[in-house]
Amino acid sequence: MESGIPSGSLVSAKLASDFESLADPSKRTFLRAAGLLIAGLIAPEGRARLSLQGAADFGHKVVVVIFGGVRRAETFSSEGLVNIPHLSGDLLHKALFYASIRNEGVTAHFNAISSILTGNWQRVDDWGKLAPATPTVFEHFRKRLGVSRSETWVVASNKALTNMIGASSASDFGPEYGANVVFPKQLMITAVADALRQGRTGNMADRAKVEAELESTLEGSNYEGLGWTVFDAVERLDPRVRDTIKQAIATFVHSGGPTSGDELTFLVSREVMRKFSPRLLVVILSDVEVAHFGSYALHLGGIRTADRLAYQLWQEVEANPEYRGKTTMLVLPEFGRDPDGSSTNGFFNHRANEESTRNTWMMVLGAAVDKPQVIERPVRHVDLCPTLAGLLGCPPMEAQGARLLELKV
Ligand SMILES: [Zn+2]
Repeated sequence: MESGIPSGSLVSAKLASDFESLADPSKRTFLRAAGLLIAGLIAPEGRARLSLQGAADFGHKVVVVIFGGVRRAETFSSEGLVNIPHLSGDLLHKALFYASIRNEGVTAHFNAISSILTGNWQRVDDWGKLAPATPTVFEHFRKRLGVSRSETWVVASNKALTNMIGASSASDFGPEYGANVVFPKQLMITAVADALRQGRTGNMADRAKVEAELESTLEGSNYEGLGWTVFDAVERLDPRVRDTIKQAIATFVHSGGPTSGDELTFLVSREVMRKFSPRLLVVILSDVEVAHFGSYALHLGGIRTADRLAYQLWQEVEANPEYRGKTTMLVLPEFGRDPDGSSTNGFFNHRANEESTRNTWMMVLGAAVDKPQVIERPVRHVDLCPTLAGLLGCPPMEAQGARLLELKV
């Protein structure tokens, strides 16, 4: 059979029969009604298929967990696996694992995270005084698909970040389309500083009083004082956000567990997932950055904390009905750290133009993973943003990075 032209007696008979039936007005009416009915039944499915390919209502969610600087030597190497029992033992077997992801830009925190979030190597101020120069995935997602701000969040421990991480300075984009940005650890630092200044240092040894200190800082500061960008509020935090943070503080203070900055960042992230279930959540952990103070043991402790908290975030994804089955979670470091014996003090820093500093790994879990596999081909940090945009149903964005095709949309 060629060109779709029917041939053969069976097809001819069928056509003849249809033609005959159409000669009968009652049958013609029935067929027209049936046609309309069928069209009506098919149309919603057609629309659903369209939305799978690009509309905002499909609901694929993305959680990105970024670790700060960790070397392969302390993580995915034969000696390093002991520091990441959850990533290597509980998650690797179901992951799409990129064995080599490269930071080819500035290996400083603000630039590294900006590059991940924009798909372009950013070279702005290391301390976040300037916004990324090209649009973030938040702006692209919100502007292109008309998504509300509460669907996009950054929850970060790292003190090298500012709320400039939530939106670019690109014309036609900018803060109007940016993400909610909160720094839970800054709340702790501010609370401790307030208590010290006012001679209430004894309070920090008493968990109930710590809670009161944190809450009073939350109530007393405007969000700008904390460096937060939440719901465009000017003077006060949005009540829903305040309640979210209060719940996280209460859990933080009363759980009896560890009380690091990353722990609070995790608890706030989990509350944000439970209260707002955003489509795109970026969690930035930084306990590992204690390495700058020269303690290798504390740095390893930070890696173990990040490993555990990433796993707990994945457990929340699997337990939370808003996320289960429709979420892709990605875990990656911002960069490595300098090699032992380098002139920059080895693991203390992340400034050397060396493989140890530039080359790390990325783990992908969940809905976009077709089959667990290890990808040896090197990819780049800037490839992440176009990939996230694709997962979220955005039209392609202009970027130096390219979509990672192993992640299925
Ligand atoms: Zn650092």
